[in-house]
Amino acid sequence: MQEKSSQHETHLRDWKRSPFVIPDIHLKFELDEKETLVTSRMQVKAAPDRKPEEVLTLIGEEIELISLSINDKQLDKSAFSEKDGELTIAPPSSEFTLEIKTKVCPEKNLKLSGLYKSGNILCTQNEAEGFRRITYFIDRPDIMSRYNVEISADKAKYPYLLSNGNLIESGNLEGGRHYTKWQDPFPKPCYLFALVAGDFGLIEDHYITHSGRKIDLKIYCDRGNESKCLHAMSSLKRAMKWDEEVFGLEYDLDLFMIVAVLSFNFGAMENKGLNIFNANAILVDEKTATDENFMRVERVVAHEYFHNWTGNRVTLRDWFQLTLKEGLTVFRDQDFTQDMHNKGVQRIEDVQYVRRYQFPEDSGPTSHPIKPTSYIKIDNFYTTTIYYKGAEVIRMIKTLLGDALFRKGMDTYFELYDGKAVTTEDFLHAMELAYGQSLKQFSRWYARSGTPVVKAQVTFEDGAAILEVEQKSCEEKGLEPLCFPLAVGFIDKEGKPLSVICESASRVSDKTAVLKVSKAKEKFVFKNIPVGAHASVNRHFSAPIILERELRKEERLFLMQHDIDSFNRWDAAYELYAGCLLEMVEDLKKNKPLIVDKHLLEGIQKALDDHQLDPAFLALMLSLPGEGEIGERQRVIDIEEIHAAREFLKREIGEVFYTRFKEKWQELTESGSSGTDTKAIGQRKLKNICLAYMVATQREEAFEIAHRQFKEAKNMTDQLSALDLLTNYANPFREEALAAFYREWKKEPLVITKWFAVQAGSQIASLQEKVGELLKDPVYDEKVPNNVRALLGTFLQNQYHFHDASGKGYQLISREIIRLDQINPHVAASIALGFKKYARVDDKRQALMRGSLEAILKAPNLSPNVFEIASKCLSNK
Ligand code: ZN
Repeated sequence: MQEKSSQHETHLRDWKRSPFVIPDIHLKFELDEKETLVTSRMQVKAAPDRKPEEVLTLIGEEIELISLSINDKQLDKSAFSEKDGELTIAPPSSEFTLEIKTKVCPEKNLKLSGLYKSGNILCTQNEAEGFRRITYFIDRPDIMSRYNVEISADKAKYPYLLSNGNLIESGNLEGGRHYTKWQDPFPKPCYLFALVAGDFGLIEDHYITHSGRKIDLKIYCDRGNESKCLHAMSSLKRAMKWDEEVFGLEYDLDLFMIVAVLSFNFGAMENKGLNIFNANAILVDEKTATDENFMRVERVVAHEYFHNWTGNRVTLRDWFQLTLKEGLTVFRDQDFTQDMHNKGVQRIEDVQYVRRYQFPEDSGPTSHPIKPTSYIKIDNFYTTTIYYKGAEVIRMIKTLLGDALFRKGMDTYFELYDGKAVTTEDFLHAMELAYGQSLKQFSRWYARSGTPVVKAQVTFEDGAAILEVEQKSCEEKGLEPLCFPLAVGFIDKEGKPLSVICESASRVSDKTAVLKVSKAKEKFVFKNIPVGAHASVNRHFSAPIILERELRKEERLFLMQHDIDSFNRWDAAYELYAGCLLEMVEDLKKNKPLIVDKHLLEGIQKALDDHQLDPAFLALMLSLPGEGEIGERQRVIDIEEIHAAREFLKREIGEVFYTRFKEKWQELTESGSSGTDTKAIGQRKLKNICLAYMVATQREEAFEIAHRQFKEAKNMTDQLSALDLLTNYANPFREEALAAFYREWKKEPLVITKWFAVQAGSQIASLQEKVGELLKDPVYDEKVPNNVRALLGTFLQNQYHFHDASGKGYQLISREIIRLDQINPHVAASIALGFKKYARVDDKRQALMRGSLEAILKAPNLSPNVFEIASKCLSNK
């Protein structure tokens, strides 16, 4: 079967309700990795307003149609037509039973969409459009059906046969086969259908809900990995409890299952009652997983669980609404994580993520609003914008409404739309009912791409401070003003937070006013603010904007020490560092010798001296903006100068504070907490950042200390941090450490990806060749996306080496994209995003990139996925 032509675009404006619905479906799977027979028996009903000429159209992709019958009568070839995956049937009446038999080959399904094989497991991934790769169906999320599923397979190979809902029957069959029958009482779109078959290890637990119901919890994994599921299980229980406490949402089935598989296109999937996860988002223990991995497991487990209400019970009318479930669910997993750990630290890390990944997307060739209006492949729209900017938009609604009204809005949302397939407008409608005010102007956030630039200036007049806020994109690009909350506070010269009196504020709490900004230019008056007080603007990143303020370094240094808002305290440091780095870049371009700014050093000194600071927060205060983030601030990115300036700065900071870092490292190594609670994680983070600065000096002693930590580490966080540093510089321990790590972990697929990643992220010379060699390593299996992401994905983030002036980085990546595209277009397209800086590099690099992009676009059999990304990159000038 043929793929749709590369250029076929789907537009939101073309959306029409389906002329038919499928209230009930009975699916029968006769499983085998080579050839699975699928029988789908559907109750089809015409929509009440269906026009007589409207026919039934079902979609299929890369599957073989065996037979078709209506009301148990076999259809002959003239009664239907099949073209390019579209099966068209003239309906005999307004209600009928349609039965379709198809054949699929899971073993050959390397796209990992539909029914496929991961190791010895058979599993499904149907979001967004995988169900059509199993059977012909009206594959769109507003077709909600009640599912009955019957699965049979060889009992020895596949002792577990799982699907959504409740197990209602199981038994043996002839020929060593067995079967199970599942029933899901909740109507759902086909993208939430799931099936898993295999032999597993398993851990079991239960949860008693708020209303006293007992829910069985099961996590399935490869045998031998059971103990690595314990953290996921406890995370799941915390998430269930949190959703009851914070949103009053209880789980609705009696059974909740999670299955961990190795080959998976992304993190995880929220299939009703049967979540399927990338093993790297479930399996952790201290020896094999880092603290970051632990945090991610908790977050992703919660995320998928939260989808049960935001996504499954209330689902999407169409894929343009994706942020309705993803933005909202990310928002929920962020708040959950904040509540489980350190609120301030989590908020900073979430903003770091937005700045590192979403801002560059929004300023590049694939920039799109959180509600896009067209796509070629919806798979390309599972983006940081839909997810993370989407979450920021929900967070702004919460900040505008306040906690109580936001909760009321959520309650209204579920009251109005439970069991329905809805739109982002419906969500805003529920919020408006709670708010009692219009969100019409606010809704522009859903349609606007690009990060808004907002300028804020403070002047003093008659004992008051006047804050002028200007939305720069309005004048510059002729755009209508956005509406957003801006959280503001003041600190006097002595460092004391001031009370805020502002008549036009929506709300005041904790010496912070929440302003509702809605005009292109607007003034806010704060009474009783002495001249020279410091304004703290956009506290906790109340709006996802680029805030422009003309602050002197002294002022940033002041806020770095005295702001009561931990986000803005950190952000003052971040802005100070970024400003200094940009100045250093300019100095390099003028061949001036580099010196380190004294304010910056003073800021670091004061942070190190402040014994009140939480270790995790101090670690963040000591972190420099990445090379990519500095590049984001330039129109034409100075690849080499940014790298040189940042390396120089790291080294200088290391030199100046060497003794302090060493003392801290020693103290935390000797008496830091163990385990993986918030405190221990924060201490390790600080310890390893101290070590990083020590190693940046490239002193022999520092390398020795790193090597010692590498050898004596009791957990993966310490082992990997040390390895990362040893890999990053030429030193006597480098090769030996890499070899030792390889020997120790080459049989652990989730650990060895870290070995690929540290090398792909390193700054040593000739990295392009090295990555080329690693691609040939026997443990590198490109059919498992985790490997591709670790090696090529990390290399793409390595701005200095990927954008090497020789063009070798571009060539390597384009060659790999072309090869990977024939295996897994979804993964190939995500790698193609590496070319998003095409318009932002110098002419020489641009010419090289153009060559690579053109080579991709000329490749035979190019998938629509890669076509969409590569063509967008190339046309961005
Ligand atoms: Zn999600």
